[in-house]
Order: sequence, then C-alpha cells, then structure tokens
Amino acid sequence: DLQSSASNGGLTVTVVPHVAMIPSAGMGHLSISVRLAATLASHGCLVTFITPRPLVSDGESRAIADLHSSYPQIRFLDLRLLPFDAPDVDPFLRQFETIRRSASLLQPLLTSVTPPLSAVIVDISLLSAFVPVTKALRLPTYVTFISSAMMLALLAVFPSVRKAAGDGPLAAVDIPGVGTSLPGSLIPPPLHDPKHLFAIQFLENGEALLQADGVFINTFSALEAETLAALNAGTVMPGLPPVIAVGPQEPVKFEGARRAAVARRDSWAAWLDAQPPRSVLYVAFGNRTALPKEQIRELGVGLEKSGCRFLWVVKSKIVDREDDAGVLLEDLLGEAYRERVGERGMVVKSWVDQDEVLAHPSVGGFLSHAGWNSVAEAALQGVRLFNWPSGGDQRVCALVADKCGAGVWVKEWGWSSSGRSNEETPTVNGEDIGKRLRELMGDAALCESTARIREAALRSVGVGGMSYEALRSFIAGLAARE
Ligand code: UDP
Ligand code: UDP
Repeated sequence: DLQSSASNGGLTVTVVPHVAMIPSAGMGHLSISVRLAATLASHGCLVTFITPRPLVSDGESRAIADLHSSYPQIRFLDLRLLPFDAPDVDPFLRQFETIRRSASLLQPLLTSVTPPLSAVIVDISLLSAFVPVTKALRLPTYVTFISSAMMLALLAVFPSVRKAAGDGPLAAVDIPGVGTSLPGSLIPPPLHDPKHLFAIQFLENGEALLQADGVFINTFSALEAETLAALNAGTVMPGLPPVIAVGPQEPVKFEGARRAAVARRDSWAAWLDAQPPRSVLYVAFGNRTALPKEQIRELGVGLEKSGCRFLWVVKSKIVDREDDAGVLLEDLLGEAYRERVGERGMVVKSWVDQDEVLAHPSVGGFLSHAGWNSVAEAALQGVRLFNWPSGGDQRVCALVADKCGAGVWVKEWGWSSSGRSNEETPTVNGEDIGKRLRELMGDAALCESTARIREAALRSVGVGGMSYEALRSFIAGLAARE
C-alpha cells in the first residue's frame, strides 16, 4: 500500500521507487543501512545495496551475507575500492577515506541499474565525497546518520565552530535551540585537532549536510524530542534538510543468522535461558572498542566482586579478525577466573548477536560504551544502560541517554584509554567497579524510566507511530515523484 498508483488511460500503473543504499565501514555504520534496507524492502520499495569491498571486519561480512540470504528481493552490487594506504590511521577511519577516494567509481554503478534510481541513501561519513556524483545525476540524496540527534546538531554547527576557533582546540559548543552547551571534554577528541583526518571529514560532511534532501536518524522522540524539534525548525542551523527520525530501527529477522544462533545455544544462549528474569548484566563495548589488558583484568575483578550474574563479551583488538588469532581468555583473566565465577558469569570472546541478548528476558542491565546503536537497541528492549563512554561520540551519547532516563552515565569511571582518546587515563579499579555495579543493578527509578521509554519505542515503530509513518511517507513521496 506504500506504492503510488496512477491512472493512465484506464490502466492503473503502480510505481515502485528504487533506492540505492551505500553503507560505510564498521558495524556502527553498517547496522542502520542494513536495517533500513530491510525495512524499505519490506515496505515494497526496490533496494540496491552497494557494498564497498574489501570489508574491514568479519562482523560486516556476516551482516551483509545475512541480508543477502534473508532478503532475496534486495539487489547487491560491489563498489570495488581503489587502493589507498595510511598505515597509522585507525582501520575504520582509513576505510572511510578509502571509500571516499573511490567516488569516481560510483557514477557507472548508479547509472547501470534498472529501473533507474529514485534516490540514493548514503552513510554520513561518505556524504561530501559522494554528493557531487549523486547531484550531477540529479538523484535525490538522503543520508543515514549513525549517532544521536545531539551529534547531528554538533555536525551541523561544526563548520562555523571550527572557523571561530581557528587552529586551536575547541571550547564549549553551544547548540542553538537545545539549551545545551557541550563542554570541550565531551566533544570527540579528534575534532579538537583540525588536521586530524576525522576532523577534516567531519567538517566537510557537516558542510555537505545542506546539500542533502533528508537525513535518516536512528532516534525517536522519547530520547531526543527537543533536539529533533530544534533541528527541524532550523534553529540549530538554517537550511538543514528534514531530519527523519526512524528509530529505534528494529533488528532484522535473519533466517540464516537465527539458525546459527540456535546452533550456539549450548554456550551463552543456553546459559541465559537458565537465569532468573532481568537478573543478568550484559557487558559489551561495541564492535570496535578494545579495552587495554589491564582494564580487562580490573573489569573482571569488578564483575566478580559485584555479585551480579553477567554475560561479558571480551574484546582485546579493534578489528575482530585480529582478535581471533589473539590472546586467550585465560591469559587475560587468569587460569582460575572461570572457576571462581562459576555458573554466575559467562565470558565469551566472540561476536554475540546483541539484539538477541538484549531481547532475552533474563537480561536486565547493560554495561556499555554508549555507542549509539547500543543505546537505541537497549531502549527498544527496556534494558537499563550503565554507560562507560570511551572515545568518539560516546560521551555525547552517554549524556543524551542520561538526560532522557535511558541509562546512567557512570562519570567517575572517566575516559577509558581505548587507544582512540588522546589522553591517557588511569585504569579503573575492580573494587570500585564491583561496588558501583551492585548499586546500579538495584536502581528502581531507572527500571521505571527504561520501561516507559520501551513503551514509547514500540509505539514509534508500530503502525501509526512516528518512525513507521516517516518511512511510509518517504516511500510514498518518492513514488509520487516518479
Ligand atoms: N554488536 C553485536 N555483537 C557484538 C558487538 C556489537 O551485535 O558482539 C552490534 C551491536 O548490536 C550494534 C553494533 O554492533 O548494533 C555496534 O554499534 P554501536 O554504535 O553500539 O558501537 P560501535 O561499535 O560503533 O562503537
Ligand atoms: N575515530 C578516531 N579516533 C577517535 C574517535 C573516532 O579515529 O578518537 C574515528 C573512527 O574511525 C570511528 C569514527 O571516527 O570509526 C567515528 O567514530 P565514532 O566513535 O563516532 O563512531 P564508530 O565508528 O565507533 O561507530
């Protein structure tokens, strides 16, 4: 019912819009593109998914393979990247740059597909490099923004903020219309250095926002009503395109992935099944944050002392492929750790299906790095967040989660040195972690606010809800334009 029908001399012609989706590197970026592709396809829109190859991590390969096998109606094309090397740059950031530098390969791909495209949806990290190509083809260009609306507001004002600060570090940034001033310490560390590759891309993408026709963002009003309103009223930055809140995007129902999850049931899934309702603390820091070894050991002590039941995903390398060949859990935590913790804790050193974990009735808390996907996924499941932000946008996202009642930002744990922050921070002591976790798992007020947010999330994505209707009118709008 989302396609428009037009009368043509007695014949009714149904117009099906065709959208190309271009994701960027890392699961944090890929998740929303995959979910949006699946949602659009389910709404009857034609989708061509353009995968920049080679991919960086196994997580990405798995997600794309799952989309491929579960959505036969989605078409797949590869963008074979031009070689680019920058050995000292973070592997995901390097990949953003590699994809950006392959923009010249895009035009033939976009013009090769049939029926002709109605629009392109491109990841924010690629926008300024790709928008000249899409605009030359007169294609409406939409953006997937992968973080909070507050980060989008920061991106929008960043070009003028940078200009005002000259070459120096940034002071507090006022976000007009939101009543929030982001202190310099909250701003992603690389943005303070105008020569940092991330800061260069961020500035260019911020400028390019004005050329986009709309921005899809994985948030909803129970999390960020005020910021969304300010963005759409032109208060944050005049001339911004519509910001389309489509969150929280629901996990894709993958046939193959579900089967694989069932095959793993004798490990963490079976263990979760055996725990009391909402008793388990899930501990994971996203797909690209590796804790230093010393901090892993102290966190291990903390989880042991907390007395909580826990499911802990340990990551000691930024890219998962390197982790596989890496250190054994026993080397990180000591031989006797598992024995001491016994049945109370489950430690894994592999990818888990986070959607499945958060949806499990035994899970009641989530010790997280406040990656935005994690925040949105926890909000959808009504799981309390205890945020321990590290680098990038995570402090801003932890602030947002704290303000709306989706979680608590455990500020005293500071900025952990994940290798991405410029500052070295002392390791947080295991005793302190244990004590605080015990308190947090007993926080009743947080239980109430997360339950309220979950209700709002479900309303938002349900028929008639804000996210659902936003996608519906996007597709109807494209169909009407054909
Ligand atoms: N994720 C997962 N299993 C893991 C680690 C991560 O499914 O073991 C998923 C998680 O559900 C989320 C994404 O990877 O969708 C991570 O994105 P987020 O924004 O939370 O953090 P980032 O990894 O970008 O820092
Ligand atoms: N980044 C970086 N250094 C930092 C923070 C971020 O190089 O201190 C890069 C990194 O490549 C990351 C990107 O900036 O992928 C965006 O970071 P963010 O944490 O906002 O998002 P993520 O990619 O983790 O989902």
